[in-house]
Amino acid sequence: MDDSSKATETFHMTSAEFRRAGRQAIDWIADYYDLLETREFPVLSRSCPGEIRASLPEHAPQAPEQFSALLADMNAKILPGVTHWQSPDFYAYFPANSSFPGILGDLLSSGLAVQGMLWATSPACTELESHVLDWLVEMLDLPRQFLSAGRGGGVIQDSASSAALCAILAARERATGFASNAEGVRQPLVAYTSSQAHSSIEKDIKVAGIGSNNLRLIDVDDNFSMQPQALRHALEEDKISGRLPFFVCATVGTTSSLAIDPLLEIGAICREHHLWMHVDAAMAGTAALCPELRYIHNGLELADSYCFNPHKWMFTNFDCTAFYVADRKTLIDTLSILPEYLRNQATEQGSVFDYRDWHVPLGRRFRSLKLWSVIRHYGVEGLRFHLRRHLELARQFAEWVCSDDRFELAAPPSLNLVCFRLKSSDYQNEKLLTRLNHGGQLYLSHTRLRGKFALRMSIGQTTTELRHVEAAWRLIQKTASRD
Ligand code: PLP
Repeated sequence: MDDSSKATETFHMTSAEFRRAGRQAIDWIADYYDLLETREFPVLSRSCPGEIRASLPEHAPQAPEQFSALLADMNAKILPGVTHWQSPDFYAYFPANSSFPGILGDLLSSGLAVQGMLWATSPACTELESHVLDWLVEMLDLPRQFLSAGRGGGVIQDSASSAALCAILAARERATGFASNAEGVRQPLVAYTSSQAHSSIEKDIKVAGIGSNNLRLIDVDDNFSMQPQALRHALEEDKISGRLPFFVCATVGTTSSLAIDPLLEIGAICREHHLWMHVDAAMAGTAALCPELRYIHNGLELADSYCFNPHKWMFTNFDCTAFYVADRKTLIDTLSILPEYLRNQATEQGSVFDYRDWHVPLGRRFRSLKLWSVIRHYGVEGLRFHLRRHLELARQFAEWVCSDDRFELAAPPSLNLVCFRLKSSDYQNEKLLTRLNHGGQLYLSHTRLRGKFALRMSIGQTTTELRHVEAAWRLIQKTASRD
């Protein structure tokens, strides 16, 4: 039977067809990245709500279709609705940068298509993950308590939001002697983070059943960093009124302005009051690959848990959050349930990690492959090279802002983020941002700092170079000159 008749009979794509279609898919991706360079697309999609759905057939096809037809629709129907996160002119939010080695690692993961919920369901999926996360401890010079050889260890989660949720759940159980898991949350537990922390902390607090009224948003200083004395004051007041403080989230690199909370002081307070300290370094953590930037983690040795996102600034395709705990037993005791159908010898012997016990979902992909692929391709040297490039571009951009007296910095520039504004009304700044983004040549986002609207220039794309940042600044100046 030839290849095509076999396919017609079984409806499956044969391996020969897969090879052909796979080459087309890789070519399509490579072409897409080449086109991003030529500014073929508006960076921010111009699609209107419902437009993409309206272009799709109302019903699923009854008869099989060719992969080439799907690729044609990628061009005609999907790309117009894509905001180009991998464009060198994407400066919005924080990057979710990618790389060809990351894509290839993800492809291998899709190819193997294992489900690594238990060590036994694919030992390599678990062991490569533990190993690569141990590598990262060394690469970022993180405290040794996070290494899997001791009492701690790392796991890949889908997002920093999920990592913080797991930290909150483990903290809740540690503080209540595991009674909350058994009986529900009965005690008036209280958590703390700064007013600049990411919104995911509030969401997690709700999900964990703590109640958002029991999350205190601690004041920040002029640099937008948490004030430790305000934290101390808030938690002592809560204690006096009979509540149980249990959790603090400190941020290394806040979302609005990349401010860094003082981990040493916050950690000391947490130790004194037996609170769990989680450190959220979602975007900025990657900076610690460079020895000269490791100050961002001063005091991290006092943390119970830590996370950063290689899927933001470490060229590893979304999703990939590295989450570490100093005491894995508390996390596992919080999340582990062992039904009969998951029992197996390796688990019973207790000599392996079953990563299903380290996060909320049971199932898990082989995500460490993309991280492994990125780290092996670039090496630590290559990664550092690109981070330093981004830092230099941000430094240069901040200098340009300061040298144009129509503009001002809205926060001290931090790492690869520059927050800036026109010395004018919020209305004028919003108008500037809207015009820039509608033009399609770049994409910036905004925040509010000290009550004022500010534009954020976040430089972390894989392919962004000086010429892109120069063009961006020229465009910003020109657009600001329009009435
Ligand atoms: N924490 C910080 C400081 C962030 O900036 C972000 C997102 O930008 C998050 C958490 C949430 O990240 P994720 O999408 O991985 O949940």
